[in-house]
Amino acid sequence: MVVSDAAAVAPGIGLLSDPLGDRRLNVYALEHDGGWALFDAGVPGTVTGRVERGDLVGAITLLVVSHADADHLGDAAALRALSPNLRILCHAGDRRWIEDHDALVRERYDHARPRYGYGYPTDVLRELRRLCGADIRIDATLDDGSSLRIGSREWRVLHVPGHSPGHLALWHEPDGVLLLGDAVLGFGPPGGDGRASMPPTHQSIGDYLRTIDRLARLPVRLALSGHWPPLDGALFGRLLRESRTCVERDLEVVLEACSGQPRRFADLIGALNDRSRSWPPREDAAYSFALAGYLERLTGQQRLREEPGRTYIR
Ligand SMILES: [Zn+2]
Repeated sequence: MVVSDAAAVAPGIGLLSDPLGDRRLNVYALEHDGGWALFDAGVPGTVTGRVERGDLVGAITLLVVSHADADHLGDAAALRALSPNLRILCHAGDRRWIEDHDALVRERYDHARPRYGYGYPTDVLRELRRLCGADIRIDATLDDGSSLRIGSREWRVLHVPGHSPGHLALWHEPDGVLLLGDAVLGFGPPGGDGRASMPPTHQSIGDYLRTIDRLARLPVRLALSGHWPPLDGALFGRLLRESRTCVERDLEVVLEACSGQPRRFADLIGALNDRSRSWPPREDAAYSFALAGYLERLTGQQRLREEPGRTYIR
């Protein structure tokens, strides 16, 4: 049982980290019954490439998918083809998208087109669909508060929505280890220079703020995320504070932009990016997730009014 290129981040937990554009993409291999369990699967080739090269040796019998995004589930179908006994688990809230990738692209990545006429170009959507890999079947769903044994650890399942409806994390209190996925995203996942490499992609704002509060109450000693390096308790606390500050700052940017004149969705994407851009312009469209959430929250609180033609005014 070997992972030759993994960094051991805790006893029995290896980090498989690859570049994904300017970011890192992290998958975790956990020792499990003489083989491996995985937390997330990466994109096509992330795990199966290691198996084929002989870098990851030993049966892979369990995969927990943190949420419905291509960079966390894309290698799952190929992995199952290599490991027929693999069981794949997720939270019910993301199950349909994890199983049906055309629906994932249409309803998640292209979410803003029906309502706002805004979205990624066709070639980007096609590439996202490719990164999802083939459709997969989920064997069972995990509920908040349930426990999951992986190797010698009993993990507690946490439902931590906001980035996606059914995002889950795994928490091991005795060791203070949190398998976080993308549950909180600070000002956006860091690139090579440490600054945000893309906009943060939280969406359901009330859920996201509750998730931040919930995670802040845990005595975390090591947080293992999808795109950050391993974070100790202090750095994780900072990420949680940045995640909340980002939402508060962005809500003010949207309100300010809508003061005195009606603004369209695309105008507000521009305002958010102009306020904080540390990424190349091709990443700007990823602010559509958070903006859709901000508009829903601000109109629901009657701090913004929707005008004809889907414009917004304070
Ligand atoms: Zn991710």
